[in-house]
Amino acid sequence: MQSHFIDNTHCAASSGLSIPMIDPSDGQAFDAIGRGNANDVNDAVSAARRCQETVWSKLPAANRGRLLMQLSAAVATHADELASIEQRDCGKPTRQAIADVSALARYLEFYAGSCDKLHGATIPYLDGYSVLTWREPHGVTGHVIPWNYPLQIFGRSVGGALAAGNSCVIKPAEDACLSLIRVAQLAADAGFPAGAINVVTGYGHEAGDALVRHAGIDHISFTGSPVIGTRVAQSAAERHCPVTLELGGKSPQIVFADANLDAALPAIVSAIVQNSGQTCSAGSRLLVEHSIYETVMTRLGQAFRKLQAGPAALDLDLGPLIRRTQQQRVQSMLAEARATGIEVVAEGQIVDQAPSSGFYQAPVLLRDVAPVSRLAQEEVFGPVLVAMSFHDEDHAVELANATPFGLVAGIWTQDGARQFRVARRLRCGQVFVNNYGAGGGVEIPFGGVKSSGYGREKGFEALYGFTTLKSVAIRHG
Ligand code: NAD
Repeated sequence: MQSHFIDNTHCAASSGLSIPMIDPSDGQAFDAIGRGNANDVNDAVSAARRCQETVWSKLPAANRGRLLMQLSAAVATHADELASIEQRDCGKPTRQAIADVSALARYLEFYAGSCDKLHGATIPYLDGYSVLTWREPHGVTGHVIPWNYPLQIFGRSVGGALAAGNSCVIKPAEDACLSLIRVAQLAADAGFPAGAINVVTGYGHEAGDALVRHAGIDHISFTGSPVIGTRVAQSAAERHCPVTLELGGKSPQIVFADANLDAALPAIVSAIVQNSGQTCSAGSRLLVEHSIYETVMTRLGQAFRKLQAGPAALDLDLGPLIRRTQQQRVQSMLAEARATGIEVVAEGQIVDQAPSSGFYQAPVLLRDVAPVSRLAQEEVFGPVLVAMSFHDEDHAVELANATPFGLVAGIWTQDGARQFRVARRLRCGQVFVNNYGAGGGVEIPFGGVKSSGYGREKGFEALYGFTTLKSVAIRHG
């Protein structure tokens, strides 16, 4: 059984209780993790504070960068091991698991290079004064991480926080935390001081709740569902703790009649089947100009029928969903859609080798879905693409903006002026034109508006969120 990593040491949960780790590919328990509680969180926060005050805040920025670079190299060296941990924990097909490890190594590399480039400004003021600003770390940052991309979200969230000079306490998801325990160990081996990176395992309502309420946490980075994000923000507000919320999405892919469909359609398929649709930025709504709607439905239908879901190790188009309850949620949303007469254009297959005890869901393409319906408004977090048509640019923008979310959008058109016009009018945090996701885009700030959250991670911009600005006005003499 594995558990916390605090002060560079593996330690058991003080409760003595455990949570089984389930392999989504066969639904069987293969390990267990400690069920952390407020006492364990307290130990982790104390370790992080000690490290912050005695070592981490005194280390030159360039040295922090070197440590992050060494961790990046260690992650690359242990890529196969980390990918296989992630594969069993999350049910990721091999290529996806390897891509996640590569992304983590790249985040750490990016943030390694940023440590000694984060600086303040001098501000012109009255004669006889010098005014400057200092970018200072918050101190101890708390990171609540979901199960869909543990390694990648560690990279963008913890990587940025460490680069900015914070020490960190991480609460990974109860469904998938083994890879992060291993990364914390690799960091210790790479020379990170005790207390810089601490991991507390356990349930969200216990360890997670204790972390976000802890008075010793100076900033919270939460990635997860809007419902829990609201709770986290409320409890943080009670003690005026800053929060970054990376929540869900219902991101539109907008296809105009002049789009290059040979480029657009494979990207549209991949944006909904990647990680079995369990991606906050999944392109889960397809808006197609009416004159090419039938063509797009036909071609996408052909592509969907060929898609295969199966055990992660088979490395098919899709692995299983994370857990039984997630599978049941997707199935019930689809049953509701069918009952209301929504037409299924095409469905992929679940391969024969997939055990019935695994959490599989074939990808589904639905058409003429009403923009106000549940499937068009709510995040499914499964491989379900809902399509609808639009008649002109204004209509496309209206539909694209008509959900509570605003995370990402894709625009497919050859018309340069329209690319800018539509991108400007979309209410979301990221827009991709004639591509979707830009291959990960570690350098590109990421985050949402509306119910998708606030604050930005990824890129240099994240470092502003992981620091606080102090202004210093000095009167000469
Ligand atoms: P979730 O909100 O249930 O859990 C996320 C994390 O929060 C887990 O670590 C969980 O243990 C913890 N948690 C649960 N209750 C808590 C509480 N009361 N206090 C503190 N922490 C608590 O979400 P999930 O089902 O694990 O993940 C799926 C959701 O995450 C989807 O909505 C998805 O869109 C979103 N997500 C968003 C992004 C993004 O960057 N915007 C990235 C990945 C996932």
